[in-house]
Order: sequence, then structure tokens, then C-alpha cells
Amino acid sequence: MSRRVVVVGAGITGLTVAYRILRSPYASEVLVVETDREPGGVIRTVRVGDLDLEAGPDALLVRKPWALDLCYELGLEGDLMPQGATASQLLTPRGLLPVPPGRLGIPASATGLARWKGMPVTARLRAIAEPLLPRRHSERDSSVGALLRRRLGRGATDALVAPLLAGIYAGDIDRLSVDAAFPELAYWERELGSLRAGARAKAVPARRVPAGPATPFATIRGGLHRLPAALAEALGPGTLRFGSSVVKLGREGRGPYRVATDGGDDLPADAVVLATPSSVSADLLAEVAPKAAELIREISAASTAIALFVYPKGTNRRLPEAAGFVTRRGALPITAATAVSKKWPRQAFGSRAVIRAFVGGAGLEHELDRPDDDILSSAREALARVYRLTVEPEHAALVRWPGSMPQYAVGHLDLLGAIDAALPPGLYVAGGAFRGVGIPDRVRDAGAIADRVVRQD
Ligand SMILES: Cc1cc2nc3c(=O)[nH]c(=O)nc-3n(C[C@H](O)[C@H](O)[C@H](O)COP(=O)(O)OP(=O)(O)OC[C@H]3O[C@@H](n4cnc5c(N)ncnc54)[C@H](O)[C@@H]3O)c2cc1C
Repeated sequence: MSRRVVVVGAGITGLTVAYRILRSPYASEVLVVETDREPGGVIRTVRVGDLDLEAGPDALLVRKPWALDLCYELGLEGDLMPQGATASQLLTPRGLLPVPPGRLGIPASATGLARWKGMPVTARLRAIAEPLLPRRHSERDSSVGALLRRRLGRGATDALVAPLLAGIYAGDIDRLSVDAAFPELAYWERELGSLRAGARAKAVPARRVPAGPATPFATIRGGLHRLPAALAEALGPGTLRFGSSVVKLGREGRGPYRVATDGGDDLPADAVVLATPSSVSADLLAEVAPKAAELIREISAASTAIALFVYPKGTNRRLPEAAGFVTRRGALPITAATAVSKKWPRQAFGSRAVIRAFVGGAGLEHELDRPDDDILSSAREALARVYRLTVEPEHAALVRWPGSMPQYAVGHLDLLGAIDAALPPGLYVAGGAFRGVGIPDRVRDAGAIADRVVRQD
């Protein structure tokens, strides 16, 4: 008899789990149950004026190949697009400065550091001396902030590296785990002797997308939602149930799990994959795996919002040739901005500047305790100051993402081990709260979970 699998959540994780299970040689019946009427979860576009713009993720990291490979598999390779402008900038007391060449915000050369005017000379000298410091051999996890300050000093950490690394997780570097969030940093120190040596080491060669030059990020023509849409199409309507929320997970003795939906379904399942936000997964596990539920609740998630602006004709040329900028924590009411019309140029933009700004994040959630119009107007003022835009945007939209950015606190990997140990056979948790927040990591992890489901591991 084939194994009955229910996947809860049709974001990129749940869809990929289902797709991989059905592509495996093991016989399984898979049903994906999703609250929304569409696939994709946080991957979605919104209409702003006459334009469809990314409201959630906008970029696939090319260095991590799993999402691109999936695009190839689903026939989307011809629609993969490289970045336009690739340079990153940092807002400093001296205005916007380019981020010095390197990796993960760590400059690859002493010259790059010496010339970077975004921090005082003393801070530059301290960071330049980093390779002379003894390396730490301990394998104990620590916070990203502690490691960076120990190696580079407070000045370079706060002015240069923290804004870039914190931005990736909308997190606080003094809480983020090195081992879970940026294991490269510990490896560079331990194995290569310094962070600078790691930043200098040749990165895995970036794959090229067929349409153009090798750039750090890529996207899909028409929007990233085309990836979940292609997965949903490959799965077929019989495998997907939209507009239906799972409200309870139960089990009688050692029988199959029972998955109850708000529509009154009671679905028997030999295996259940919860590809939902971790707070939802914890609630659903409360009865069948209370210990796992309790442990999952320890993983917090920050709230953010994205403010989208479309400026009038003639404004795009006023933006610098850069993909966007990040700011120091608390320097502005926004943490970062993407110059969409530079990073992902499109004919439909014409000569208009299109910008999206990030608001909120761990420890900055108070920025979101305001009406949409207030948030939009302070983001607009911040962009006007930084980019010296003298005209108002013609269209604006705010998209809120409550609890959408999982925070990997120090000890996260140990916590994952404990969660796995507390889950009874046949129950699996997936999603950004566990093993990697970016879409490529979601796709890789979904493949690993599908493998465990079919092997009944
Ligand atoms: C604003 C933002 C920007 C980002 N930018 C990038 C980026 O540029 N590049 C990148 O690689 N990553 C980015 N990420 C991260 C990446 O988008 C996410 O980690 C990934 O898309 C999460 O996918 P998921 O399927 O795990 O979760 P989700 O997309 O959250 O999917 C979970 C699904 O579960 C459904 N659900 C919830 N409860 C129930 C229930 N009870 N019953 C049934 N269904 C339920 C939800 O409706 C949802 O569809 C960004 C994330 C955000 C929020």
C-alpha cells in the first residue's frame, strides 16, 4: 500500500517536499493543504500603480545552487535573469559608501579596510590587525556579534559588518548564532586563521544564469512566484487543497495521524510534514508531540514590513548605480533599501525610480507599531534624504510580514537536535525556522525532508 503523506503549507518548502516525494521511486499519496487560495506563502507580488512588484523575497542567491537547479528542472531556466546593478552601499555618517570587496561584509584586503572612510582611522587599524590575533579553537557556538567584535573590534563590527549580516536575518548580531547563521565565520577563524583569509579565499564559482553575466543574485522574469506556481502545476490539482487550514493534529494509539481542517476534513496520514511558520507548527504539535511543540516555541521570529515606492518619470537616473544600501541599526526608520529599478531593470519601469525599503526586524519592531501611512511617510522621507530625491513617489504600498523572519539564537543547532529527538516517527517540521532562511536553503532542506519521509527515517 502506498504511504499517505499530508504536507501542511504550500510555501516553497511544502511544495518542494511534496514534489520531491512524488518524484521519488517510493509509492506515496501526497496531499498539500494550504490556507491561502494560491501557492507560494511569502513569495508574492503586489500591484503598485501599474507595476507588479515583489512584496516578499526578490532574489535567489546564485552561490547556493538548489533553487536555480529546481528552476532548471521545472523549465524556468530561460526566464532566469541576472542582476542589473550589483554594488552594495552602506549609509555612513559620510553618506553612501560602497561596501569594500570581500565576503559577508568582511573586507578581503587591508587596503580595502584602510581606504574605507565609513569609520574612524582607529577602527580601521584595529580591523586591519585581525589576522595577527590568535585564533580560537573552541567549537562552542557564540553570537555573531561576539565573534566579530573579538576579531575585528567594535568599530568595524558596528559600522561595517553588522549592518550587512544583521540585514540577512532582520536580526540582532548579538543574539544570532554563528554556527546556525554564519558558520563560515567560525570556520574561517578556526581553519584559515582569520576572517580576512576567509573573505579572500576564492568563493565557490557563481553559476551563471543563461541570460547574462554571472551576478551574485538572480530572479525570474515576471516574479519569483513563478517558481511555486510551476511546482503547483507539476504537482497537479489533485495533490493540492487551497483555502483550507489545518486546525488540529491527532492520533489514536499507534494508528495513522488524523489531520483535521477547518472545512471539517479528517485526513488519515502515515506521515505529516508541517511546512508552516514555526508558531503554527508548535500549536499543531501540542497534542501529538508536546515536548517538540515546547522546544519549537523557543525559536522566535521577527516582524518586518516592506515599503514599495514608484517615483515619477526621470527619477531613475538620480539613483546611484547600485543595488541598494543598508544602514546601521537605528540610524534611520528603515534598515535597508533596494533600488529595484537598478537591481532588476525592466522595460515597464521606463525612466522611473522604483525602490523598496525594509522596516522593522529583531529589536526594531516598535517601528511597525504605527499606521501604514506613518510608516510609509517616514520611509519616504528617509529615502528622499539618502538619495536626494526632491519629488514625491506617485504610488506607494506597505506589506507587513508579522513573525516572518526566524531568529537563530546561540545554541540553535542543539535545539534542532532536541526537536528532532522529540518528534515521534512520521512527523516532520520544515520551514525557515529550522535549517536556513533563504529560498535556496528551503529547497535543499525540503529535498532532505522528502528523503526522510520516503525512507521512513
Ligand atoms: C520580506 C521577506 C523577504 C525575503 N527575501 C528573501 C530573498 O530575497 N531571498 C531569499 O532567498 N529568501 C528571502 N526571504 C526568505 C524566504 O522567502 C522564506 O524563507 C521562504 O519563502 C519561506 O518559505 P516556507 O515555505 O518555509 O514558508 P511560508 O512561505 O511562510 O509558507 C508557509 C505556508 O503555510 C501556510 N499555512 C500557515 N498555517 C497554515 C495552516 N494551519 N494550514 C494550512 N496552511 C497553513 C501559509 O499560508 C503559507 O502559505 C524573505 C522573506 C521575507 C518574509
